[in-house]
Amino acid sequence: MKNITLSLNKSTQNANTQKLGKVWLVGGGPGDPELLTLKAMRVMSEADIVLYDSLISEEILAMLPKKCTRIHVGKRCGAHKMTQVDIQKLLLTSARKYNRVVRLKGGDPFIFGRGGEELEYLQAHGVEVDIVPGITAAGGCAAAAKIPLTHREYGNALMLDSGHSQYGEYQKSQNPTRVFYMGVKQAGMITANLLCEGLSDSTPVALIANGTLPNQEVHTGVLMDLPYLAERYSGAGPALIIVGEVAAFAARNQNQKMVQDTVDALAQEVGEAVA
Ligand code: SAH
Repeated sequence: MKNITLSLNKSTQNANTQKLGKVWLVGGGPGDPELLTLKAMRVMSEADIVLYDSLISEEILAMLPKKCTRIHVGKRCGAHKMTQVDIQKLLLTSARKYNRVVRLKGGDPFIFGRGGEELEYLQAHGVEVDIVPGITAAGGCAAAAKIPLTHREYGNALMLDSGHSQYGEYQKSQNPTRVFYMGVKQAGMITANLLCEGLSDSTPVALIANGTLPNQEVHTGVLMDLPYLAERYSGAGPALIIVGEVAAFAARNQNQKMVQDTVDALAQEVGEAVA
């Protein structure tokens, strides 16, 4: 049943994408053009149209191909402020008209960049989306000020907080996404502690090994499964664990090499062992 649903989705998507261009959500880094990634530069150099934010500097804009169309969708583009919904609609219209659409954002598209909203909207309309990560402001500013954001003696966790709700007023941190570096061997303790902190055992989790490399593995499940996912992980190469509602995005992304059925296999294994 599950396979049938998946293949139906895939064929529907293929039918739609035949007429649609592809969108890249590109991180432009914290400002210094030398902090752009090689991938960001390549994708920008091949763009037919670029929709960019206010934080993108003139120096970076000067790197765009001369013939590409540019649209400033930033908040400070005059009296006519584009809403997030307007931007999403414009991205879709662009994908209908152009082959290669670049959405250029300051820092990293997935850190306070509304990249998640754009990804969801475009995927819901059958548009293929790729993410090009960028150096987020925290990394750029810390490096500029020579502040080590983690230090074995002074700080073993890092929290990035928007300091406000989507309506602009102060809001203390809510549903923080937790990312555990070097945590695979401690997955059991991590799970136990998060459950004690009050997290639901059905909180989505993702274990990503060799991320961005050809041998990338993305294992998804819920918090209760985390120790089993960690145990099943092959152990070759670096891995990190993402815990939080946003981790569910990984399971939805059809382009990723997903190992969602690991959980089903485990459930079956455990069931067999019990029986
Ligand atoms: N996606 C971006 C963040 C966008 S939110 C990223 O990953 O960096 C915009 C906020 O980021 C700014 O209000 C400011 O707080 C911070 N920011 C972005 N660039 C910055 C810079 N060069 N120096 C200091 N803060 C910066």
